[in-house]
Amino acid sequence: MSAVLSDVVPISQPVPTRRRTAWIVISASAQAQSIAQAMRDHGWQIDHIADDLHSIHRLITGLDALPDVLITGLRFADGDGFQLIRQLAKRPHPPALFIASHQQRAVIKAALALAEACRIEVAGSAEQPIEARAIGQSLATFEPGRMGRAQQIARPPLERDDLLSLLDRGALYPWMQPKLRLSSQEVVGFEALMRAHDNAGALILPDRLISALACHGLLDEATMRMARQTVDFVATALSEGMAISASINVSMQSLSNFAFCRELALIVERAQLDPSWITIEITETDAMADMLSVIENAARIRMLGFNLAIDDFGTAYSSLFQLSRIPFSELKIERAFISGVDEDSGKQAIVRACSQLGTSLGLHVVAEGVETAEELDFVRQAGCSHIQGYLVARPMPAARALDWLRGFNELRFDLPN
Ligand code: C2E
Ligand code: CA
Ligand code: CA
Repeated sequence: MSAVLSDVVPISQPVPTRRRTAWIVISASAQAQSIAQAMRDHGWQIDHIADDLHSIHRLITGLDALPDVLITGLRFADGDGFQLIRQLAKRPHPPALFIASHQQRAVIKAALALAEACRIEVAGSAEQPIEARAIGQSLATFEPGRMGRAQQIARPPLERDDLLSLLDRGALYPWMQPKLRLSSQEVVGFEALMRAHDNAGALILPDRLISALACHGLLDEATMRMARQTVDFVATALSEGMAISASINVSMQSLSNFAFCRELALIVERAQLDPSWITIEITETDAMADMLSVIENAARIRMLGFNLAIDDFGTAYSSLFQLSRIPFSELKIERAFISGVDEDSGKQAIVRACSQLGTSLGLHVVAEGVETAEELDFVRQAGCSHIQGYLVARPMPAARALDWLRGFNELRFDLPN
């Protein structure tokens, strides 16, 4: 039955800033009401409650202002939550989604994955038994727009002039994140991750930088700047007797440019550095794009003496046969599979398989994004040879990374057992 209730009720707790708004669409009306009450107890304003898709559909297409969060089930008499997600994705600023459903966990996970793929923020999920109070609590501190609206409004795309100004001011540089060899607990290398500071001193991250640089034809130049500073970083560390290598992320488009590869070789030559101290990382998606040019460019990079890593492994479903034809030296398992791996049997199967595959192809296997002792425990057992992640250290400016490394070498790193 269509039952859209407009109900604005006084809140029972002080709300610090703007009042957060939610809609609830769940086929069991009584459950929807108790979730609404739990949300109000945490300062939310519930603007609509519905038990069918049709009425929510009308609201989504008919109203300008959508709520901050939409709490939804997955099965309705007149359709399902997947249709709802598709419909939300058509709106420029969709609400964050919280899924409360009795469906199997795999189905809920698929719905969350669909939401993420549609760039809809995920506020959380609850499975059977659905407890209204727990939902209220889990959304108590949720700040809407963390990855969605707030960012889009606050951070317009970078224009060509902004980027040229960053390059002119030398305001684009690598932040370094250490990579640890598990067997010896030694830091053996760092990954250079692009950062910039705008005129006001605010940090700009790669999610805004890379696509803008590529779009304005400036990515090769920016990558060269990264390469020069990264080579300086390694040369300084080596001159102090600290044997560390470094990785640079390079797009396939840059790698296809013969002049770019030659320039890269010149940079290490000028610094009198053996190129084997430098690893070039290309993403799996990039690596699978055009097999012929990938094989050619990858082989050229190895011939010049650099190492080559396949990054974000597991995301692009590459053909294993094709993979074996590209001369990689390192395989980096995508962070999404490592996050929470200790609690997810699906991720465990993927990480084990990636690790075995990399090891049997003779590659170093790096687990990326290791944040907890439990994740470390699992990737160690799964046979990964190296880790990178917040558990060891976050990316940091190059000068700080050198200080960090000096301290690390004195103290050694004590990984949880
Ligand atoms: P990536 O190459 O996979 O780099 C790892 C990303 O994961 C980095 O994000 C790093 O800060 C983050 N990370 C590392 N450990 C953890 C962890 O334990 N937890 C969490 N939550 N995150 C962790 P960042 O620096 O934002 O870079 C994002 C992506 O941008 C990189 O992913 C890479 O694909 C691209 N990128 C960065 N620098 C460059 C560059 O110079 N050139 C190109 N072409 N791409 C770059
Ligand atoms: Ca990388
Ligand atoms: Ca990665």
